[in-house]
Amino acid sequence: MIDFRLDDKQLAIQAKYRDFTARWITPNARKYDLLAEFPWEVVKAAYKEGIMNGPLPTKFGGNGYSLIEGAIAAEELGAGCIGIGIGIEANTLALTPLLLAANEEQQKRFYGMIHEQQGVAAYALTEPNAGSDVQGIKSTAIRKGDKYIINGHKRFITNAEVSSFLTVFALTDPDRGSRSLSAIVVPTDSPGIEMKPHMLKMGQRASVQNEIIFHDVEVPVANLLGEEGHGFLIAMKTFDRTRNGVGSLALGAARTAYETAMEWSKKRIQFGKPISQQQIIGFMLADMATNIEAARSLVWRAASAFDHGDKKASMYSAMAKLYASDMAMKVATDAVQVMAGDGYSQDYLVEKIMRDVKLNQIYEGTNQVQRLVISKSIMK
Ligand SMILES: Cc1cc2nc3c(=O)[nH]c(=O)nc-3n(C[C@H](O)[C@H](O)[C@H](O)COP(=O)(O)OP(=O)(O)OC[C@H]3O[C@@H](n4cnc5c(N)ncnc54)[C@H](O)[C@@H]3O)c2cc1C
Repeated sequence: MIDFRLDDKQLAIQAKYRDFTARWITPNARKYDLLAEFPWEVVKAAYKEGIMNGPLPTKFGGNGYSLIEGAIAAEELGAGCIGIGIGIEANTLALTPLLLAANEEQQKRFYGMIHEQQGVAAYALTEPNAGSDVQGIKSTAIRKGDKYIINGHKRFITNAEVSSFLTVFALTDPDRGSRSLSAIVVPTDSPGIEMKPHMLKMGQRASVQNEIIFHDVEVPVANLLGEEGHGFLIAMKTFDRTRNGVGSLALGAARTAYETAMEWSKKRIQFGKPISQQQIIGFMLADMATNIEAARSLVWRAASAFDHGDKKASMYSAMAKLYASDMAMKVATDAVQVMAGDGYSQDYLVEKIMRDVKLNQIYEGTNQVQRLVISKSIMK
């Protein structure tokens, strides 16, 4: 049965996240955009109010959300500020490999650490020469007795400088190349970790990214997730679960851009009438509203495919990320155009949203890479 009405639990999640966003995220959106700092006060409040780690099982301090529930929650975070939203959501990205591959002892140890510290973790996959091409990873984790010695170079790692630990992807046997890619938990205070200052960037400035260099960093073999050589699969299965969240955040931001432009256009009088009554503006707003609805349908479709174990869930998740982020970029750009000079000014959030949503077309696999995933899937 197809029914787009939300049930009582889903409505309650939507209301809870919408309320949190209204009190904590929207009022702080511009502040952190200008500060370009990690929004600790919001993350602490998110922990206090049960907003963090939504998709994690309740026994690990999460809310045990299905993907559709996670999508509903993420849309609300994105409606406030994607940068702050990603500060919250990137934790899920880093913790999902543990959900997929950690043993019980590791889950207790690492989820316990994050929950006790009310902290965050980071997902360290990308390297200077391995962006879209994950198989180009060169970092190594060479076993010596009961330790791995990690050397290498990661970049663009979200939340790294504020994280308790990093989920690092490295080769345990460089001769076997990416077939030996493995996922290992590395506490951020380990000796030998060189954390570069966070990068300055166009948008989503409330979330921080660092370059990290590993110089003979030692971690216990007990920090390996799953088995040696399972890293590529863990990384890809993680994205299958989280890409939908990237689409949902973009969807929320597009909604805010559209609503702002809509309200503004009703009040702005030019040539003796509100500009919303100019047909060309009305059509732009109509397209925005239509494309937002279409993206939400696809995001929910993808989440539902995942929740029901559909074999094509990975393809739908790529479609949702691709479509929702491209849609958000177009809607945000059009919202700035509708509001013209006001849209371009910092008096409103639409210029920030336009800068923010650009990134959703890039991280967790660029939209070109999503098209590769989709084309491979449809050609099968
Ligand atoms: C702000 C930010 C946060 C990030 N957070 C994280 C994080 O937390 N953890 C992490 O591990 N990584 C993170 N990343 C890295 C992100 O996932 C990569 O930037 C992304 O995957 C693209 O890699 P790249 O930038 O090296 O681009 P490249 O791979 O160099 O791509 C350059 C261009 O070539 C295109 N391209 C590449 N290969 C192909 C192909 N086969 N076919 C067609 N086109 C292709 C790309 O689409 C792109 O347009 C983050 C990046 C940013 C900017």
